[in-house]
Amino acid sequence: MKTFCGRANPTTGAMEWLEEDENYDYHQEIARSRYADMLHDKDRNVKYYEGIRAAVNRVKERGEKAIVLDIGTGTGLLSMMAASAGADFCYAVEVFKPMANAAVKIVEKNGFRDKIKVINKHSTEVTVGPDGDMQCRANILVTELFDTELIGEGALPTYEHAHKYLVQEGCEAVPYRATVYVQLVESKRMWSWNKLFPIHVEAEDGEKIIVSPSEMEDCPGVPSVCDIQLNQMPSSDFTVLSDVVTMFSVDFSKPVRSASTSYRVQLEPVKSGKAQIVLSWWDIDMDPSGMINCTMAPYWVKSTSTFQWRDHWMQCVYFLPNEEPVLQGEKVYLTACRDEYSVWYKVQKARGEEENKAAVHVESPVCRCQAHLLWNRPRFGQLNDQNRTCQYIKSLMKVLKTDSVCLCISDGSLLPVLAHYLGAKQLLIKTVCYFFFFKFFKANNLEDKIKIIEARPELLTSSHLEDKKISVLVGEPFFTTSLLPWHNLYFWYARTAVTSHLTSNVTVLPQSASLHMMIVEFQDLWRIRSPCGTCEGFDVQTMDDMINNSMNFRESKEAEPHPLWEYPCKSLSDPQEVLTFDFRKTVPEYSLSTEGSVNLLRKGKSHGAVLWMEYHLAAGISVNTGLMQISNEKGNCEWNPHCKQAVYFFSSVTESETLLDLPSAVTYAINFNTKTGEIAMDFKL
Ligand code: SAH
Repeated sequence: MKTFCGRANPTTGAMEWLEEDENYDYHQEIARSRYADMLHDKDRNVKYYEGIRAAVNRVKERGEKAIVLDIGTGTGLLSMMAASAGADFCYAVEVFKPMANAAVKIVEKNGFRDKIKVINKHSTEVTVGPDGDMQCRANILVTELFDTELIGEGALPTYEHAHKYLVQEGCEAVPYRATVYVQLVESKRMWSWNKLFPIHVEAEDGEKIIVSPSEMEDCPGVPSVCDIQLNQMPSSDFTVLSDVVTMFSVDFSKPVRSASTSYRVQLEPVKSGKAQIVLSWWDIDMDPSGMINCTMAPYWVKSTSTFQWRDHWMQCVYFLPNEEPVLQGEKVYLTACRDEYSVWYKVQKARGEEENKAAVHVESPVCRCQAHLLWNRPRFGQLNDQNRTCQYIKSLMKVLKTDSVCLCISDGSLLPVLAHYLGAKQLLIKTVCYFFFFKFFKANNLEDKIKIIEARPELLTSSHLEDKKISVLVGEPFFTTSLLPWHNLYFWYARTAVTSHLTSNVTVLPQSASLHMMIVEFQDLWRIRSPCGTCEGFDVQTMDDMINNSMNFRESKEAEPHPLWEYPCKSLSDPQEVLTFDFRKTVPEYSLSTEGSVNLLRKGKSHGAVLWMEYHLAAGISVNTGLMQISNEKGNCEWNPHCKQAVYFFSSVTESETLLDLPSAVTYAINFNTKTGEIAMDFKL
């Protein structure tokens, strides 16, 4: 069946009706899923297997039949492990239909048809009894329902229900226990993802400082977890203020309560500083003895010899509502509050016991200032990047005159404020989040200096502009709807739509943009798209086929966005400019295309091409959203830390082709369809 889905095209801004196969969503989900990454996580798999074997043995030693409940079976992997370990029967529950279907095939292919029953239901719908999904309650509970925050995928309510209705009292559980660890740190870099720092502008009439409205100062921000590859954060980017402490743990073999609660620990700061951030990760013990432990601890906590790269479980960064000065040796309380799905933190000074007891309740983080709804964490980081701001200031100084009438088209941009201080007379802005900007301008006494226009560019009228013509059109460009780097070319379409309102000699800033490309070898990221074949001896190729089928569901393979500062890679070619876009002119009718070849300069596996945009603000001034530099002769790359780059994985990764001869060049064909705003690409090794 086909359905029509309405959406705004991220590049052209046009409202389109797309004919989508009804399976489109699930293909997207599978193609972008973390199943492959989990199956490549050797450390996880080996430890689950050990834990499952031990649990089955304990049950057998008691002379009981081993009946396993595997909630969220995915490919069926953990049930197959249990069956191989001697379990008498496994109930494998999976809510996601395409996965449940795959599990049936995989179980059959591996010869476990009589031992494993796949149940395509949410575990809370599963029935027990002679006519039920399960004949009887299980005595071994196996799950892998954890996300980076541990509980974000609903592990607690699922366990709570399973203990009440699906498993026997005193059952074995794999994992047996999870423990959440925390460490208090000060980090200007991470704090810049959550608060807007004052912005300094050197204007002709002295230094101006752009400040935030007071609501932003103590706003707790949004509750969504900030999960990152903390192992890519150099130790020079944060100061440890406390030892690592255990915040709370969950015993999965006993009834679990999912209701909101809080936990409190006392910390003795090892250093004086500003408590801003709580870094957190967890480990799971697969058995009661704690001998089989799988940990997400970052590099400064555990030895590198046990290091396992994984992307499905990372580490968490929690932002305290305010920065709290702490003194070495002077104890403070750290409180973790959680509801069913998320965790948040607060630091309190250790004063009288009574006072602290009263203050334990911590309100769940709800953004009150609206800035955290307007700007996500990388965007905060970008706006706080004073070097980047300097490039905009320099270029605005070049183009602005005292009688400039300036229109800014960008989402949540502070360019109008910069432009105001740099002398533009009239300022107009088209932005999202009117109320936030109103408050922001007020905090800077600019409410009557900058006019906010709430209109789509194509609906802009001369009355919006008070019958003035625009002499300077600016944009960062940045739009919240952009996923891939080139989606910000929406600026070009908006510029085209407002053409009739521009003076004949209008200055457009940025004047142009260019798309750049480089061939890379990833240290680890390739794993997320690489087929598994077999996993711990089980044939899971059905899963590989399913992922490949979903990836090829769209006619052309697509590039995907990744923040590459978190995913080390080395360059195999020089970076190459492949397309340019001239914002001084309107979007052309014809497509822009290019083809050519890039020479490979270094030995390595060509995993894919990385693509990014550069914006040429004014003569000689650019901002780069991709490669910052190649830091050594090995080709290690440094990427813009605030942007996602586009990654196009070659079929050598997705099909696991073995390259017999190292290619010396890669040929490419790239086409920007100006009608659809889409970039299609093809590479040959
Ligand atoms: N057990 C597999 C897959 C883990 S991924 C492995 O270890 O490789 C978690 C899976 O659990 C997902 O497929 C998700 O769809 C499923 N899931 C999560 N909560 C569930 C629930 N309460 N009932 C049934 N399936 C669930």
